[in-house]
Amino acid sequence: MQLLMMGPPGAGKGTQAAKLVKKFSIPQISTGDMFRVAVKEGTELGKQAKACMDAGKLVPDEVTIGIVRERLAKDDCKNGFILDGFPRTVEQADALEKILDELGKKLTRVLNIHVPAEDLIERAVGRRICKKCGATYHVKFNPPKADVCDSCGGELYQRADDNEATMKNRLAVYEASTRPLVEYYKKAGVYTEIDGRQPIDKVTEDLAQVLASLKD
Ligand SMILES: [Zn+2]
Repeated sequence: MQLLMMGPPGAGKGTQAAKLVKKFSIPQISTGDMFRVAVKEGTELGKQAKACMDAGKLVPDEVTIGIVRERLAKDDCKNGFILDGFPRTVEQADALEKILDELGKKLTRVLNIHVPAEDLIERAVGRRICKKCGATYHVKFNPPKADVCDSCGGELYQRADDNEATMKNRLAVYEASTRPLVEYYKKAGVYTEIDGRQPIDKVTEDLAQVLASLKD
């Protein structure tokens, strides 16, 4: 089961990906993790990526794609994987198709957890985090019993970037950069949108239902 998960910041993509990892025993592969591993293992591509990152430059596409190729060829991807954060562009999507072709595989499904911008803004603006243990709350959807953390009594605070202006800007950037990919995968007939406004368990259920209807 070769999956690609998409979703705007704050839509719960990470939570859902973690559940799929457990359920299907397939690895979740994010660009950041791939870079870290390649750098740590000291592969040729890892060295190139590190040189770019150390110089504060973007890692060129051919290096990123090379690292993805190496990663997807590893043993733990035999039964599938969940890609997260790659591809980011249509060029990278083309490259991914080639890589999978070489491996004799196909992208099973692109799952996009969709949440409208106004809901994501509401989620972010109401989010409160415990200074002590990191537990998260929401003033409306998951309020603490008192003004402090339910589990440890720690002080709750609001992250500086959990405000409307920052969120609007982030979401606009996300939307503009992913729209071409959405079109790309719609055309390829592998795109499914999941309603991410539902409770976490219901989103998981919807994902499971989509995946149950697929064959590898
Ligand atoms: Zn706490």
